[in-house]
Amino acid sequence: MLRRLLAASLPRLAPAARILPHRPAAYACDVLVARGAFVSSWRRYSAPSAERPAATCPQCSAPLPSALPACTQCYFVGKLDPAHTYHDLLGMSYEPNPFAMDSEALKQSYRRLMRVVHPDRWHGKGEGKVEAAQTLSSGIVAAYQKLENPMLRIQYILEHEGFPITEDDSGGDPEILHETMEYHEMIDEADTPEKLQAIGSEISEKIETVMEEITTLVGQKRWEDSKKAAVRLKYLLGIRTALSGQGFEH
Ligand SMILES: [Zn+2]
Repeated sequence: MLRRLLAASLPRLAPAARILPHRPAAYACDVLVARGAFVSSWRRYSAPSAERPAATCPQCSAPLPSALPACTQCYFVGKLDPAHTYHDLLGMSYEPNPFAMDSEALKQSYRRLMRVVHPDRWHGKGEGKVEAAQTLSSGIVAAYQKLENPMLRIQYILEHEGFPITEDDSGGDPEILHETMEYHEMIDEADTPEKLQAIGSEISEKIETVMEEITTLVGQKRWEDSKKAAVRLKYLLGIRTALSGQGFEH
């Protein structure tokens, strides 16, 4: 909480703090709290979905402890509903903005679900229960991995909305390709840590900007524009990976 308040009170984070190659999970949240203007929308969008009524167990009718078909009263365990979004599964709101994500709430929800399907809980509760719980567990892990990573999250949202990023989208924009090539050359030619640091700061700033753009575009359901911004994010993240390969650390 202190970190959030601190971040929100600063117009911009210090450059070093904005380069987060090892913290993809926290990035979306950090970006959104980094600028005061986004704090209110971040709070509004990122609340876990509490409004959905709790489902009940089909076997004993007890309220289920999570969105999972797993009852910790009678040890009924079912299969995941393929119609559920990853957001549904992890108890996060898809509307009004599936891209805006409170990383901390997501992590807490993930941990809570993993406790529900933990093998120890299902051991000795009947034939096939542990295996069924493990199947749910794999589904939760897959959903969490998609949602905690901004790039995978926007790819998932675009797919879900019927606008998947294709090969053509990824390789088609000459402007992005040109910019990317220039950065890769700059990284190759950078002969001091200061030069790498400068490139890193520039890239982090661009990533921050494009993440804000994606948040806005997704909120407005402008899927084609969201896709273009997502492709740009992909290239920028690639440049940041190249920087990490050069020993650049935050
Ligand atoms: Zn039950």
